[in-house]
Amino acid sequence: MITGTTKLLGVIGNPIEHSLSPVMHNAAICALQQRSVNASLGVDYVYLPLPINAADLNVAITGFEAIGLVGFNVTIPHKQAIISLLSEVSSVAKVVGAVNTVWRTESGWSGTNTDVEGFIAPLQAHNRDWSQTTAVILGHGGAARAVVVGCTQLGCTKIHIVGRNKEKLSAFEQSWLDSSLPVSLDIHLWEQLPELLSQADLIVNTTPVGMYPHVEESPVNAVAMQAIKENAIAYDLIYTPNPTLFLQQAKQQSAIAIDGLEMLVQQGAAAFKIWIGQTPPVDTMRQSLRQYLGLST
Ligand code: NAP
Repeated sequence: MITGTTKLLGVIGNPIEHSLSPVMHNAAICALQQRSVNASLGVDYVYLPLPINAADLNVAITGFEAIGLVGFNVTIPHKQAIISLLSEVSSVAKVVGAVNTVWRTESGWSGTNTDVEGFIAPLQAHNRDWSQTTAVILGHGGAARAVVVGCTQLGCTKIHIVGRNKEKLSAFEQSWLDSSLPVSLDIHLWEQLPELLSQADLIVNTTPVGMYPHVEESPVNAVAMQAIKENAIAYDLIYTPNPTLFLQQAKQQSAIAIDGLEMLVQQGAAAFKIWIGQTPPVDTMRQSLRQYLGLST
């Protein structure tokens, strides 16, 4: 129930209508409210979609302070621009170069990036030794940056980035030079993919290829996919369709498939914990999304 004491959380972006974050965070808030024996100790929050234009970001953040907003998620196009408006930025967000979670402190707004934690959580569940492993990352946009940092945190020693534009690939490579990543990072054009797949322990699709409504597309063609190692992990950041054609092809080659839904859930769970200070009901968050997306629960 929303009352006069309910505290505000939200997600800023533009467009924001398709964000799934309100679904999972409000489901989590309701679950904790229902579990609370004493209503006064319950979790009294609501999570709202907040459409903010790039030109209005500064005034919006000042307004959030005025209305006592507790914290918020940040999505496109504000993930980089928000950084200059924060009084503190976590080291992981600095390396990624983007913030997706912000909370209010006595000294101002603090920010971090929970996409890295979200990305690695389902991989850690597989209990593998990631030292001396090779990751192949398809695409080099915003999400790929969190994936690079995640692979480094896991312990991968070699990362191959695959893209279709030489200049953009070089710019991506250059952007890591100051961060002294403990990993060797190489860039490649798409033609080299079959050779790279045969070496990969982990292959991550960070491109939107195969995303609804283009469900018949895959970033890797069926012939090239034959090069993937048995028991390699194929990870698609896309969560609709579920599974994508890329993951179906990988499974046919006896690879292990991970879809993007769990990353979405886990980055949200990490943000929820920061704002509310309680263990998030991760099952409820996952089920609410699966139900909303019409997936089996
Ligand atoms: P982005 O910044 O726009 O980057 C997209 C990347 O994909 C770019 O490198 C782009 O290369 C490449 N690409 C686009 N179309 C391509 C094509 N037809 N063939 C080959 N490469 C292509 O997007 P993003 O924010 O990183 O997001 C990427 C995907 O990850 C989206 O599907 C998004 O929904 C998903 N995502 C999921 C989660 C999650 O929690 N599961 C979180 C974040 C993102 P060019 O520059 O050459 O176009």
